[in-house]
Amino acid sequence: MAVLDETVSTDPAYYLDLDDTWCAHNYHPLPVVVATAEGASVTDVTGKKYLDMLSGYSALNFGHRHPDLIAATIEQLGRVTLTSRAFHHDQLGLFCAELAALTNTEMVLPMNSGAEAVESAIKVARKWAYQVKGVPENRAQIITAGGNFHGRTISIVSFSDDDVATAGYGPYTPGFLSVKYGDAEALAAAITPDTAAILLEPIQGEAGVVVPPAGYLAEVRRLCTENNVLFIADEIQSGLGRTGKTLALDHEGVTADLYTLGKALGGGILPVSAVVGRRDVLGVLKPGTHGSTFGGNPLSAAVGRAVIKLLSTGEMQARATELGEHLHTKLNALIGHGVAEVRGRGLWAGVQLSPGERTGRQISEALAERGILIKETHESTLRFAPALVITREEIDYAVDSLASVL
Ligand SMILES: *Cc1c(COP(=O)(O)O)cnc(C)c1O
Repeated sequence: MAVLDETVSTDPAYYLDLDDTWCAHNYHPLPVVVATAEGASVTDVTGKKYLDMLSGYSALNFGHRHPDLIAATIEQLGRVTLTSRAFHHDQLGLFCAELAALTNTEMVLPMNSGAEAVESAIKVARKWAYQVKGVPENRAQIITAGGNFHGRTISIVSFSDDDVATAGYGPYTPGFLSVKYGDAEALAAAITPDTAAILLEPIQGEAGVVVPPAGYLAEVRRLCTENNVLFIADEIQSGLGRTGKTLALDHEGVTADLYTLGKALGGGILPVSAVVGRRDVLGVLKPGTHGSTFGGNPLSAAVGRAVIKLLSTGEMQARATELGEHLHTKLNALIGHGVAEVRGRGLWAGVQLSPGERTGRQISEALAERGILIKETHESTLRFAPALVITREEIDYAVDSLASVL
C-alpha cells in the first residue's frame, strides 16, 4: 500500500483502499470517488458525471461552488480569516444582524457544526430555566421527539432513540424526556413545572422526511406559551430555503423562541451554524459562559453573509416551491410501482420503498450506475434533497431513472 504515493490515480479502487485502511469506518459511502463538482452535479475520478440528489444532506442547498459564495470566500481570504472572539472583526456584527433580519429574530449566537448549535441551544435553555423561569437547580428538563436526529455528541445521542447511534456510548446525559413525534397530547402530558424547552425538528430529516400532522406545530407553540416553556426548532436541515420558505415553521405561521441553523448556512464551503431567537433568552449568556474558538470567525461570517444574501431575494425559496411541486408530482406517480409513500415539502422528499422492494442501499447503488447520487436513510427510505439550482430536466432524469430501476 503506497500511502505516501503522490500519484493521482483515476482508479476509484485506489481511493477506496486508502479510505478503508486509514479512515475510521464510521460511514458506509457509495463506491463513488468525487473529484470535482459544480452546481447540482459532481464528477468522479474516472470523469463520470453524476447528478447529486443529496446535496450534502442539505449543506449544499445552493449547489456546489455557487459563484457568489466562491467569490465572497475568495474576497474574504484576501482580508482576514480568523481573529478568535478575543477581538472584534468587521464581519461578525453584520452577519448576526443580517441573519436576524432574514429569520425575523432578535439575536444570534454563531457556532460551527449543527450539533454544536443544538448543544448551545440546550445550554441556553437550561440557563434560562434557572435564571428566568425559576426552575430549581439541576432539575431542568428538555422534551424531545421520538425519531429525532439532532447530531452526534454525547448529550444529543442521549435523547436519540436510534440504537445504532446510541449503543455503547453510555452513561447518557440526564435531563431529557422523549415523547412521540406529532402527538400534541403526549407532549402536553409530559410538561411539568421543570420543563425548560421542547426541542424538535419541524420536519424530521434523518427519520425519512417526516412531516407532522396538520396543526401539530401550532399546538406545540400554544403549549409552550401556556406553560412558559421554550420552543426550540431545529431547522438545521429543514431551514434556509429547502422547503420553499426560509424556515419550515414559516409554512405554519408559527415562530419558535430559538432556532438552530447549520448545514446550508456555510454554503457548502465551511461549517457555519447558529442559534437565533429571542433577545431575552439568548441574553442569559454572559462573557465566559459559552464560546467557541472558530464560531463567528471572519471567513465563516463572510460566507454566511453571502448565503443570507442569496436567500434575501426569495428567489431560492420560490425555486424550491416550484421545482418541489414538480418533484413531488413525479414521485407520487411512482406510488404502487415500488414506492409505498412519498413525504416532504418543497424540494425535499422521503420516498418510502414498498415492502418486498430491494433495500434503499441497493436502489442507491443501481442509481449511481445511471449517474444519480442518492442515499438511503434507514433501510427503505430514499431522500431526495437536490440543490435548489437543479433544473426541471435534471429532476425528470433522476425520477425517470428511479422509475426504471424499480
Ligand atoms: C445534520 C443535522 C444536525 C447535526 O449537524 P452536524 O453539522 O452534522 O453536527 C442537527 N440537526 C439536524 C436536524 C440535522 O439534520
